[in-house]
Amino acid sequence: MKNTHLTDTYFVNLELSKPILHGLKDAGFEQCSPIQDRALPIALRDRDVAGQAQTGTGKTASFLLAAFQRLLNDKSETKKYPRAIILAPTRELAIQIHKDALLLGKHLNFNLALIYGGTDYQKQLKTVQGNVDIMIATPGRLIDFYRQKAFSLDNIQVMVLDEADRMFDLGFIKDIRYLLNRMPSPDKRLNMLFSATLSFKVSELAYEHMNQPVMVKIEAEEVTSGSIKQFAFCPANEQKIPLLIGLINSHKPVRSIIFVNTKRSAEKLADYLAANDHPNALLSGDVPQEKRQRLLADFQESKVTIMIATDVAARGLHIPDVSHVFNFDLPQDAEDYVHRIGRTARFGAKGEAISFICEEYAYSMPDIEAYIKQKIDIQRVSEDLLAEIIKPKPRPRPPRKPAPHAKKTTRPPKRGPGTRVNKPKAEYK
Ligand code: AMP
Repeated sequence: MKNTHLTDTYFVNLELSKPILHGLKDAGFEQCSPIQDRALPIALRDRDVAGQAQTGTGKTASFLLAAFQRLLNDKSETKKYPRAIILAPTRELAIQIHKDALLLGKHLNFNLALIYGGTDYQKQLKTVQGNVDIMIATPGRLIDFYRQKAFSLDNIQVMVLDEADRMFDLGFIKDIRYLLNRMPSPDKRLNMLFSATLSFKVSELAYEHMNQPVMVKIEAEEVTSGSIKQFAFCPANEQKIPLLIGLINSHKPVRSIIFVNTKRSAEKLADYLAANDHPNALLSGDVPQEKRQRLLADFQESKVTIMIATDVAARGLHIPDVSHVFNFDLPQDAEDYVHRIGRTARFGAKGEAISFICEEYAYSMPDIEAYIKQKIDIQRVSEDLLAEIIKPKPRPRPPRKPAPHAKKTTRPPKRGPGTRVNKPKAEYK
């Protein structure tokens, strides 16, 4: 595979031990991505790194490889555990990091622990009580175990904070500070922080809890530009669904993600696609965690190849690479456009981003074009692009909730005309 977004730096030329290179070879990684090229040489020299990089840039391998090497360099005879901690804001991200660590660390004898809330409390507790080399965790559950003295933070040699800006957004920052303050001082460990933006808050955290970190920035555009073919259509509202289905039929995407702006729009679209022989997974904000995980796994394994998502639901999730991004609804925020289309064409693969400039959201287009400093080519909605579609059966309505007062059984019956108020008089015989 020709990877146009990889650099000329080969992993074999970095200061990495053999078992690490072996893992990289098995994973099929030969050349560094830009963030790996910039962050790894610094971290491998035991300097702290604060990197601005989003999902899709290869940031996970950057911190995993550096963490592995640091632990391999530790030649002390009696090891004290845990030796490294990787903190992630969401369980999906923690699961993804763990998966990458298993892949890249296949030839290392490290014990990994995956810790996150919601399930397997006792099982995870038992794991952290053992000799764990690297803990990959969300903050809440980890603090819970720490407070029970299930493990110690005294021997931490590597600390990684992934998606630091999300930690702030999700209100975890107090938890993070709690944990960092209980580890050896920053100069006694290798610290790496990654964040989509190195905002003032994040930089402040970095300076406070890291040892003079080197700032490394990778712009989102560096990842996405060039290899994504972007174009748009201007359909009337009633043409949107026939056009989408027509495009899916003709382009036959390997794996696609369709972005919509509202949950209602997502549900309607999911029903139409299903009725027209396009099974799909619907990822909206209120889908429960367990189900999200299942949907993502199905998508990753290509059991379903079409995912419908809202921005909120997709944010921060590791969604596998897709060949096509459809903006069924144009995003109302230009930055979201870049995030959305960044899901395709990762690592130099070719991708297409197709946007509908519809009556409702057309006003976003000038902002998007100004933001990406590029005009998006508009194609004509010709008759042959519009599929004949089958209407789905209406969704069964959820049973109506009884009105709150209906529960109150003590309420006296309504008095209406003809309602007897007093006891009936005895009938005359
Ligand atoms: P990340 O930004 O860490 O989520 O990585 C995005 C994707 O790129 C993942 O599927 C990685 O397995 C893959 N990847 C990371 N580094 C490389 C590399 N140097 N060569 C090829 N693929 C890579």
